[in-house]
Amino acid sequence: MKLISKEVVNRIKDKLKDTSNILILSHYHPDGDAVGSVLSMSRFFRKMGYKVSAALPDSSPAFLKWMKGVEDILIFEKEPELIEHKFSKADLIFALDFNDPSRLKGMEIWYEKSGAMKILIDHHPEPKKFSDITISDVSVSSTCEMLYELMKSVRGADIIDKEIATALFVGIMTDTGCFSFNSSDPETYIRVAELLGYEINKDEIFSLVYDNYSDNRMRLLGYVLKEKMEVIPEYNTAFISITMDELERYSFVMGDTEGFVNYPLSIRHVRFSALFIEKPDHVKISFRSKGSFPANLFSRKHFNGGGHLNAAGGELYTNMEETLRLFRSLLPEYAKDLK
Ligand code: 5GP
Ligand code: MN
Repeated sequence: MKLISKEVVNRIKDKLKDTSNILILSHYHPDGDAVGSVLSMSRFFRKMGYKVSAALPDSSPAFLKWMKGVEDILIFEKEPELIEHKFSKADLIFALDFNDPSRLKGMEIWYEKSGAMKILIDHHPEPKKFSDITISDVSVSSTCEMLYELMKSVRGADIIDKEIATALFVGIMTDTGCFSFNSSDPETYIRVAELLGYEINKDEIFSLVYDNYSDNRMRLLGYVLKEKMEVIPEYNTAFISITMDELERYSFVMGDTEGFVNYPLSIRHVRFSALFIEKPDHVKISFRSKGSFPANLFSRKHFNGGGHLNAAGGELYTNMEETLRLFRSLLPEYAKDLK
């Protein structure tokens, strides 16, 4: 991870001197890093005496509902007027864990209009220029890992407590798939070791996040692995598609398909995995890859998306049949990269 420069830290500290209202934002379909970022920064600035609001485009997934403060995050889909008001009051806005304003799914109009100082902190490749300060580092595991360093530089480690450390740990743990990817930097483990020093309950956090599924979710997973997974050995690729009917059959709730896209990667030789989920007017797609195959470039080029090298997503405003046809038809041109 690149260290955050003294100059940037000083600009933030200067701005904090004439700030009273802070607004903290993260992306649509928030994951553990998004929610961990929002909650840790909210508590950090509240402890420093600021009035803090936090907003997300849509609700946090069920496996993060246990996190302290999650109920206080404003949800754009539920309370747009209140969020618009918070934008109008904010002196300082933090955009955390996304690289493109469209990931605010409707709130970006207020973001762009706002006269507040805007600070983006993120680890996705090629961030768009939509903030006054952009702190971007693709090499780091997670936004939460960056925030830990930022908090220490801006205020000092003594303000960090168990609640902040827990939220930061959730972001690092989930964005590295429990330290199975994006986690080869020794510094990550030093930071995690320091976070453990705040007496966070690592085993319990793991269990709250990963052993938190409903029986419906487990049965849906069983069904899709057995009936809906296709393996294409010549391209070392596997994918799963799920229709709205199927989701309904298993009483789908938000977050139930989280992680499904990773399963095909456990098959020997599979290096590229995709998950297609049918929505009323589009198909939402997740991509995962192993090694050097750039899931993000593939998604950007063909599926209106982006993301990280090994974890990306996108969407196509058409039906499932067309989407799968397109996906299959693209594989031959990537045959060499998928070897
Ligand atoms: P997931 O598959 O977990 O939904 O998303 C994995 C990663 O892909 C996210 O962290 C995000 O960076 C990226 N991503 C997912 N969906 C989209 C999308 O529609 N557009 C863009 N630009 N990135 C996405
Ligand atoms: Mn992240």
